[in-house]
Amino acid sequence: MRTAIFPGSFDPFTLGHLDVLESALKLFDKVIVAVGYNSNKATSGWFPVDIRIKIIKDSVKPFGKRVDVCCYKELTIDLCHRLGVNFIVRGLRTTTDFEFEGVIAQANKVMDPDIVTVYVQASHEYSFISSTVVRDVLIHNGDATPFLPKGLDIKKYIKQRKELKK
Ligand code: ADP
Repeated sequence: MRTAIFPGSFDPFTLGHLDVLESALKLFDKVIVAVGYNSNKATSGWFPVDIRIKIIKDSVKPFGKRVDVCCYKELTIDLCHRLGVNFIVRGLRTTTDFEFEGVIAQANKVMDPDIVTVYVQASHEYSFISSTVVRDVLIHNGDATPFLPKGLDIKKYIKQRKELKK
């Protein structure tokens, strides 16, 4: 069985991420969405990791057992070793993504040449979506539903976040 991990901050998971996941499921039997802490971002993020995981679990329900969700703090390649997975999936929107992703993939390749990074091109209708834009909309009480997986009750998770931050 071919398994890949799809690592990211997912703060929060968007329609863009779902689009990448759907493409990855055409290549792999199973995909593990792995919520990690990016060393270039604030450690805690906007949504706490627990809530990010709940949002992803709600969003990936239609895929059943083909998608797992986990979180990690170690290097992505160490997560691959821990899970026994040899493929990393990442999404590409723009040339900026391409350059940023290239540097990470090259570093990973030096650390473990057996782990292969696979890129999925964003569908043009979702290529402008980013977690940053979604967070900005949510922070200003805007309607982010056009950017989020259908049926996701984001209000419930914003309420949970507020309770936790009290
Ligand atoms: P990170 O902080 O690790 O970049 P993100 O959650 O921002 O984590 O993104 C995870 C992955 O999903 C990255 O490879 C990113 O390029 C990709 N991605 C994010 N939004 C989109 C989108 N709209 N279309 C395609 N790929 C996307």
